[in-house]
Amino acid sequence: MAEEKEFRYDPAAIETKWQARWAADPGMYAAEPPSCGKPKYYVLEMLPYPSGALHMGHVRNYSIGDALARHMWMRGYNVIHPMGWDAFGLPAENAALKNNTPPREWTLSNIAAMKRQFERLGMGFDWATEVTTCMPDYYRWNQWFFLRMYEKGLAYRKKSKVNWCPECCTVLANEQVIDGRCWRHEDTIVEQRDLVQWFLRITAYAQELLDGLDRLDGWPEKVRTMQRNWIGRSEGTEVDFTFDGEINRGVGSREQGATRTKIRVFTTRVDTIFGATSVQLAPEHPLVNALTREDAALREQVSELLEEQKKARETGDVGEIEKHGVPTGRFAINPYSGERVPIWVANYVLLDYGTGAIMSVPAHDERDFEFATKYGIPIRRVIASADPNAPEPALPFTTKDGVVINSGEFNGLPYGEAVKRFQEKAVRGGFGEPNITFRLKDWGVSRQRYWGTPIPMIHCERDGIVPVPDDQLPVLLPENIEITQQGGSPLARVSEFVDVACPKCGGPAKRETDTMDTFVDSSWYFYRYTDARNPCAPFDSKTAQYWFPIDQYIGGVEHAILHLIYSRFWTKMMRDLGLIQNDEPVQRLFTQGMVIKDGAKMSKSKGNVVSPDDMVARYGADAARMYALFAAPPDRDLDWQEDGVAGVTRFLGRVWRIVMKYAAVARGAAHGQSKTQSPEGVSLKLLRKLHQTTAKITQDFEGRWHFNTCVAAIMELVNEVQAADAQLAAGEVPAPVMHELLETLVLLLAPFAPYLAAELWEELGGEGAVLHPGDKDPSPRTSLLRQPWPKSDPGLAKEDEIEIPVQINGKLVSLIRVPAGSDAKVIEEAALVEEKVKARTAGKTVAKIIVVPGRAINLVVK
Ligand SMILES: [Zn+2]
Ligand SMILES: [Zn+2]
Repeated sequence: MAEEKEFRYDPAAIETKWQARWAADPGMYAAEPPSCGKPKYYVLEMLPYPSGALHMGHVRNYSIGDALARHMWMRGYNVIHPMGWDAFGLPAENAALKNNTPPREWTLSNIAAMKRQFERLGMGFDWATEVTTCMPDYYRWNQWFFLRMYEKGLAYRKKSKVNWCPECCTVLANEQVIDGRCWRHEDTIVEQRDLVQWFLRITAYAQELLDGLDRLDGWPEKVRTMQRNWIGRSEGTEVDFTFDGEINRGVGSREQGATRTKIRVFTTRVDTIFGATSVQLAPEHPLVNALTREDAALREQVSELLEEQKKARETGDVGEIEKHGVPTGRFAINPYSGERVPIWVANYVLLDYGTGAIMSVPAHDERDFEFATKYGIPIRRVIASADPNAPEPALPFTTKDGVVINSGEFNGLPYGEAVKRFQEKAVRGGFGEPNITFRLKDWGVSRQRYWGTPIPMIHCERDGIVPVPDDQLPVLLPENIEITQQGGSPLARVSEFVDVACPKCGGPAKRETDTMDTFVDSSWYFYRYTDARNPCAPFDSKTAQYWFPIDQYIGGVEHAILHLIYSRFWTKMMRDLGLIQNDEPVQRLFTQGMVIKDGAKMSKSKGNVVSPDDMVARYGADAARMYALFAAPPDRDLDWQEDGVAGVTRFLGRVWRIVMKYAAVARGAAHGQSKTQSPEGVSLKLLRKLHQTTAKITQDFEGRWHFNTCVAAIMELVNEVQAADAQLAAGEVPAPVMHELLETLVLLLAPFAPYLAAELWEELGGEGAVLHPGDKDPSPRTSLLRQPWPKSDPGLAKEDEIEIPVQINGKLVSLIRVPAGSDAKVIEEAALVEEKVKARTAGKTVAKIIVVPGRAINLVVK
């Protein structure tokens, strides 16, 4: 017990000592210039929103990235490991409303607080390249990019139906509506409104965004699948049905036979078009407007359908809507068969998907089948099983593996051939063509809020929309303004901001008062890190070319659609502006699991939040970080248990005591003494474990990232060292072995528990103590961080092997080598793949295998 007291691990003392030393050396985590000749490594964790305090999810995210960065530094890479702040956004405005603090002040003080937390946690970020997106030196480049996109037709304005969050008092992008609710307000149902908005033409890159996913094999499959589904490419055919009869399109335009009204439908199954028994229109389809003009009863029914659709859009997936429709009493003519089919209006058909009109083929589509059954619409089979002997399949029969029937000249064709022939006929006849539609829509970036990047446009009565000239950037966000949530953007009420001279004619004009979606900020911030103080350009192209793509990006899977699609789009756009050469921003992506407690994600509303500050105060930063890595594989959810953190602190205390106890012995051998040749006994046992642990951790950093098992392996190693304590104390292990053992242990620990590792490193001889012949003198200020990562000696790591004779039918045919202590299964597997054994058993049956573990194996072969 006396010893326990004397050797008390005091994380607070150790960590504050090193924190002060590191703070005095702000360049220690800086990347080197490209000319350094080392291979580059860009490791990045997603930048946080400055809410004011880090949460445990952050601690986990950044512990993973920091361990990787430290490991790569030790592997001799030129590492860039930057950090910044996603600093625009709504909470700053809400805070301003609540406690009357200007958003900028609130944001900057939150950043300062969180930066202190990062520093206390010992995260190895290069703060010299810090990016804060709400600062004019950053957002001016958002504006610059916007102008470039406007010039290329990639930024445009249109009136459209938009998602409106009544809580945010602003428009949301489609990506920000989750199950019909606001991404920030889980309980708030998003409304639909008509507004004139700015859009970025992400759809211009839809196909490229989709194709690129195939090459992103360093991304989790689940993220790629989510993006594929979001982009939602469908290949199909557009076909014109002809409206049968006349239609009144309003004053003076009664259409006649020659200019027949066409109803263009989009279908992915044109091969089933002979089975179309109705045409279904979206309630907002222009033809429906024309039909309801003369028919009050129909008008009423359609407005009900529209109301249902609106509600379905607001509360969730329209796909789940209970399907309703009304017949219009009018007909359309199928251009292939000449058949007249009724025209219906249906609540599940959307105007903004495809053409807003579909053909309904109940025999071969689930949804159409349901609808036709409900309303008694005829069902006609036009696809049969490809096997003529198969029984007639049940309806709806939706396979693509059948053949066409009841379709005249197309009968007997399989799917692919049929689609081709149907499309050819449509093109020849001028009534249709192949087409591709995407679910992805253009990115609506207008926000009617204050705390964001002003959109650099001016509205002039004479000239219309006039872009702000480059030399007038940035358009500064005015400060000290009154923020309310009423009546649109707060900027609209700031006349010094709004009223300007038109850059073109000099006359009175008004600034655009919408600000940009904050996802613009995060779409390219990681390029800025490479050249963060550039006053003349968003970044230097050559420097970006050196660092990109990001070698490893780490963040939550909740960004799979929003941020990770927008930033891919932005990269392609910048490439087309000639700024960069890479097609994709991120080579490898890792999505860590959530931190949960008591069965739920930590959140203020659930009252299960654990504060990192508390954990650090109670157990130390090293323990909090290491627990975040140890408690679960990084890609899985982590169930937070405070006992676990306490356990890690106790473990670190054991490491500290062992190293402190034998540091003097190790130090005695530290300088210039060669390693022990052919160790034996307890030395061999400990070195073997050491080299096995090194191999395991090295492999994990290179591949599967099971840092939880890395920490467990270090724990096992420490257990073995402790178990040998009596022999160590008796001097049975020579000093050079002790030196290698303790030094390597500390190096292995360095990515996971940087404070304790630094302390023990110093204890073992400090800066540069491990100089081996041929090593360059590591810079003293970066000693541990730039120490070479330990190498595992495969000879030492190998378990002892024994030879085992293999007999076939009682005759010795070979000897195999297996690790000592191997069980029967391992011996059997090794014997069966041995060449001579394979030769003698080829084509024969091994009837019986008798293994005497450690002694022999006998095969009975017939
Ligand atoms: Zn909201
Ligand atoms: Zn003008």
